[in-house]
Amino acid sequence: MNNVYYGRLVFELSKPGRVGYSLPKSEISGYCISELPEGLKRQSKTILPECDELTVVRHYTNMSNNNFGVDTGFYPLGSCTMKYNPKLNEELCALPGFNRHPSTPVEYVQGSLKVYDEVQRTLAEISGLSRFTLNPYAGAHGELTGLMVIKAYHLQRGDVARTKIIVPNSAHGTNPASAAVAGFKVVEVKSLPDGTVDVEDLKPLLGPDVAGMMMTNPNTLGIFERNIPVIARLVHDCGGLMYYDGANLNPMLGVCRPGDMGFDVMHINLHKTFSTPHGGGGPGSGPVGVRKGLEHLLPNPQVEKKADGTYDLHCDAQSLGCISSFLSNFTVIIRAYAYLLSMGKENIPMAGKLSVLNANYIKECLKSHFELPIEGLCKHEFVFDGLRPEYGGDHHDPAHVTTLDVAKRLLDYGFHAPTIYFPLLFHEALMIEPTETESKDTLDDFIAVMKRIAEEARDNSEMVRTAPHNTPIRRLDDVKAVKEPKFTFKNL
Ligand SMILES: *Cc1c(COP(=O)(O)O)cnc(C)c1O
Repeated sequence: MNNVYYGRLVFELSKPGRVGYSLPKSEISGYCISELPEGLKRQSKTILPECDELTVVRHYTNMSNNNFGVDTGFYPLGSCTMKYNPKLNEELCALPGFNRHPSTPVEYVQGSLKVYDEVQRTLAEISGLSRFTLNPYAGAHGELTGLMVIKAYHLQRGDVARTKIIVPNSAHGTNPASAAVAGFKVVEVKSLPDGTVDVEDLKPLLGPDVAGMMMTNPNTLGIFERNIPVIARLVHDCGGLMYYDGANLNPMLGVCRPGDMGFDVMHINLHKTFSTPHGGGGPGSGPVGVRKGLEHLLPNPQVEKKADGTYDLHCDAQSLGCISSFLSNFTVIIRAYAYLLSMGKENIPMAGKLSVLNANYIKECLKSHFELPIEGLCKHEFVFDGLRPEYGGDHHDPAHVTTLDVAKRLLDYGFHAPTIYFPLLFHEALMIEPTETESKDTLDDFIAVMKRIAEEARDNSEMVRTAPHNTPIRRLDDVKAVKEPKFTFKNL
């Protein structure tokens, strides 16, 4: 932390004339910068740092050490399922046989197509649906694809009046956003005090203009939506389809299936539940599954297993079209395949159950110090509404210690903060998802630290309010960062 490179921008390390390469003079005319035709040469100098190779290596290595990841510490970021991603999966997706140009003729990529097909089939079995596409790039992209399936379904029946998608007010922000991007009008349905969808509020919203309803289960509060059968019947009776946001399928794995609950379309996040490193915008995958009768609407191309056991790519004329190039982020699919095979049918249900046990363990241990708005069994995650009043969390008191303060203080203790201020149903939401891959020792350390922060908030609130104290960058002014962002290294 206190080495001379730390905290300096690579631009500040720049010294005119320093370079990190030495290219031999090219013998082929036109292949070396110095031999570029005059007309193609830059007229002015680029504003790029000039550094030697070692300085660059140190700069980036030091920067990478500032990064927090599942591999560096506990990462209980609710709704994001930051589980451990086995290193074996990384080895397997780096196998040279998978490293093919995406335009390679299908006869040379039979193995890759087999992986695609088997992941597709396994997801269909896990979710109780008929067929999946693995083409969408992420969860939100899967939502958009699924909603396009719903739209195509209605339009192909000649039903053009269905313009609305119903979304619970507890939903992940991507749900209303995807529905809007797909061209639907978003109608919000309220939640009951226990966090589940309010069926009485839903009833008057249903009618011949409803294309479908999106539900997340367990919902973003980590609660199982007990009224799904009733809701599915109401939506189906009015002619709409049921969409399942399965980004958080983790606790359901091998225990219950969206297809059996009456859902018609769903997406799954391979980069959450099926163990691919994610965060920071890295590659993801949001497979979309549909019930029987909707398969032809899935995006092109589809991978097809032929009667002779070989694989081919198939385009359906009724499909909604292409939503990604080639077969999407293929290495994510390989990781999911490795995960599925190494877990096996026997162990997959264990993952979900352990994630539920871990979440409930933390919840019960910490509810003495943090406000638990919804009592009872949660699934893989749960939400606190800030600190309890006796620990300085009374949000009617302007000087209360906030969820943001707690999250910042956690960084001082080497833990990633939970998700904060989401879902929007509470003032001081603090959403914790430990996942199944953490040991009881880690959970106990986290519980001890959370209790300690609560005690600090009560006895020395200034300490918590001004945290973090020992991270490379202290607390940022969020408003200023949004209103006056600086995208350049120079002080303009
Ligand atoms: C993560 C998440 C999404 C969005 O997934 P991305 O891959 O980030 O686009 C959607 N819904 C829920 C409930 C999620 O947790």
